[in-house]
Parts: sequence; C-alpha cells; structure tokens
Amino acid sequence: MKKELKKNKACFLDRDGVLIEEGNYISSPSDVSIFHETIQALKILRKNGFKIIVITNQGGVAKGYYKEKSILDVHREIDRQLATAKLKIDKYYYCPHHPEGTVKKYSIACRCRKPAPGLIFNAAKDFDIDLSKSFLIGDKISDIEAAQNAGCSAILVKTGHGQEHIGEAETKNIIMTKNILEAVKLFTNSN
Ligand SMILES: [Mg+2]
Ligand SMILES: [Zn+2]
Repeated sequence: MKKELKKNKACFLDRDGVLIEEGNYISSPSDVSIFHETIQALKILRKNGFKIIVITNQGGVAKGYYKEKSILDVHREIDRQLATAKLKIDKYYYCPHHPEGTVKKYSIACRCRKPAPGLIFNAAKDFDIDLSKSFLIGDKISDIEAAQNAGCSAILVKTGHGQEHIGEAETKNIIMTKNILEAVKLFTNSN
C-alpha cells in the first residue's frame, strides 16, 4: 500500500493554565479568563496554517465535581470570547475519566487521559494531521509526555502549573517558555 501523506499540522493546546487561567477545576463559564497572550498566539498559529486543537484532562467529571455538560458550557464561553477577536478553536477534545474517580461510569484507566496520547491520536485522525510537524503546549509534565507519546514536539509554559515543573523540565531537557505566546513564536519562528 502506498504511504499516504498527511496534509495538516496542528498546535495542540492544553486548556487550563495554557489557553485560559488555571482555576482549580474550572466548571462554569464565569470561571473562564483567557490569557491576554492567547489572542496574539492564536493569530500567529492561524497565519502559519496550524489547526488549533484543545486537548484537556477533565477528571473533575469522574470525581463528581461537575458534569460533562459543564465542560461544553466552558468551551462555548471560550468560543464566545475568542469570536470577538475573530478567532476559533478547531475542536476541543477532553477526557472526563480518572482512575480514582467516584462516579462509576467515568472511573476507569482510559486511553485518553494525558500522559496517554489517545486524544491527540483522535484529533490527528479527524484532521489528517502530520504529528511530526505538530506541537503541543502544556503546563504539566503529563502534557509534555502525552505529546512525546504521540510523536509530536512539546513546549512547557511557566503559566498555570508550569512553575511547579521547572526543575523536572530542566532534568528532562524539556523546552520551556514564559507563556503560550512565547511558545508559539518559538515553534513558528515568529517575532
Ligand atoms: Mg493545564
Ligand atoms: Zn479518558
């Protein structure tokens, strides 16, 4: 069989602490605070032809802190705010599971909770993405490991939980930047 060429490249974004401010189990539209730098970052990604895809662990569902519907409400609010800057997330992929949850339906060891690469693989299939030309921006080591497990590049930002991971990131030779905008500029060679 002929090897098919994948057409697209993507930037996979962790949500909490990268795209929007970390809020410790964000579950309501009123919790959504988009980082100021996000707007410019997304503009650069668009200009450079990247699909913009959110990859987020939402284990709070498995823990019974909020319902799956709340995730969609939060995403709708992000969309609403981004639309005012004529920006759009191509798709949100979330994992509602947690191995130690309290809600039975979601309390499983799944293939989609980062550091597992399941959600990235789903997105790559849906959008015909060449992972070797793509990158992920995260604020936890588990985000970076998900990217590594999927075969794409990764950058750790110091926003959100990023500060807690600086030591480990240095040991593991993980690229770090101040925030989402600096990460995007670095990967796209923009200034
Ligand atoms: Mg995060
Ligand atoms: Zn999952």
